[in-house]
Amino acid sequence: MTVAARPLFAFDNSYVRELPGLYVDWQARHAPAPRLVLLNDALAEELGVDAEALSTPEGIEALVGNTAPEGAASVAQAYAGHQFGGFVPRLGDGRALLLGEVLDVHGQRRDLHLKGSGRTPFARGGDGLAPLGPMLREYAMGEAMHALGIPTTRALAVVATGDDVARETMLPGGVLVRVASSHLRVGTFQYAAVHGGPDLVRGLADYAIARHHVAAREAPNPYLALFESVVEVQASLIARWMLVGFIHGVMNTDNMTISGETIDYGPCAFMDAYDPATVFSSIDEGGRYAYGNQPGIAQWNLARLAETLLPLIDDSSEVAIEAATEVLRSFADRYQRHWTEGMRAKLGLVGEQPGDGELITDLLAQLHAQHVDYTSFFRALSASARGDTEPARSLFLDRPVFDVWAQRWQERLVEPEAASATMDRVNPVYVPRNHLMEAALAAGTAGDREPFTTFLDVLARPFGERPGLEEYAAPAPAGSEGYRTFCGT
Ligand code: AMP
Ligand code: MG
Repeated sequence: MTVAARPLFAFDNSYVRELPGLYVDWQARHAPAPRLVLLNDALAEELGVDAEALSTPEGIEALVGNTAPEGAASVAQAYAGHQFGGFVPRLGDGRALLLGEVLDVHGQRRDLHLKGSGRTPFARGGDGLAPLGPMLREYAMGEAMHALGIPTTRALAVVATGDDVARETMLPGGVLVRVASSHLRVGTFQYAAVHGGPDLVRGLADYAIARHHVAAREAPNPYLALFESVVEVQASLIARWMLVGFIHGVMNTDNMTISGETIDYGPCAFMDAYDPATVFSSIDEGGRYAYGNQPGIAQWNLARLAETLLPLIDDSSEVAIEAATEVLRSFADRYQRHWTEGMRAKLGLVGEQPGDGELITDLLAQLHAQHVDYTSFFRALSASARGDTEPARSLFLDRPVFDVWAQRWQERLVEPEAASATMDRVNPVYVPRNHLMEAALAAGTAGDREPFTTFLDVLARPFGERPGLEEYAAPAPAGSEGYRTFCGT
């Protein structure tokens, strides 16, 4: 008697079942020589998936899309989007597929999605492919954000396809197996509004409520409550980005989730010296998505979401607009509350005191004026709380000016020892600094896995100093200010 092999994934594909009109059935392109480059064992376990089975030749064929695992959906999802402010009515998964959904060990529904799996009907001029390097980069960024406690899509695996991908040079191709609490985007609503009208938007909104914002169902106006809930999760998310110095780089409406997870790690990067005008993306010439603009852009994107929901909010467009506008306006307060709370924690400030806001803004002005490394500073400051003031002081050129601020801060601390311990829990030592990422990727794409896996290990535990890892905590060497990231990945 033979025992039937257990399916790789226990799929239950609600998106495909419930939202016809928002996807097309599609198969991945055949990868000629798939090779498993990275497998996320911890995430596999969380998904209730057998990591060993995924590492077998059959598992790898499934991960790269060469064979459809039992129960898979395999669809390209449709969405629209405002890209750098201009509306594109039909974007969609041009080089990606939703494989299906699984319930993880906590009962949470998670999407399994392939990126770099070949052209789809949404590919427009694109080749449908992804180079291995940017897929490894997305893997590392997602894991780093996750370890920092920031809601994010993650990566289950990266598979090299054995294909070449033509960019400025020929590059090895890769497929990222992405895991998300869903791939519903602001752009999904925009697509439904433009191509389907109120009924499709209603179906999508009901689906989003059931999947992510269940409390909205009980509200007097569920669709307004859905909007409010998305405003809240995005205000919280963007505050968290700002607190760690993360710059997404391409905050188009198709790259903003309804769940409140960070998605689409393209030209993103962590800021080195504190400067609100920081931009890394080579295509962001106007600085639309600069660090300091992110909260405003998020609110702008949420206004685009609100527009799609207006017909559901009220039959009278005047009433709907007024209600939605009020919720939209609340973004600023919500963001400010999350951010201030986070900044207080970063500075070890217990409770609220009248001068806190000024203490924070004065500090940021100094970090900016003196080009101080953002991540290093906060970590060094917790040493100050323990009485070792040199690490923080030494980051400033004009130390007497900083000393005046540090004195005010010391006086504000309630219990310095306790403050330094709490500060160490929220101020990371290790973030995916650009120069380290570049070095790890260069080795990784050339076939030397060791530097990349070490880097992943460093990023997986960002809050505890570990001996021997000093270079991972250090700012970029002087002269690397012109760092650029590329969107054409
Ligand atoms: P992104 O800027 O990466 O969020 O992508 C924006 C849109 O372009 C999405 O619809 C992608 O599916 C599509 N896209 C990006 N790169 C490619 C590619 N190489 N081939 C096909 N479509 C792509
Ligand atoms: Mg995208």
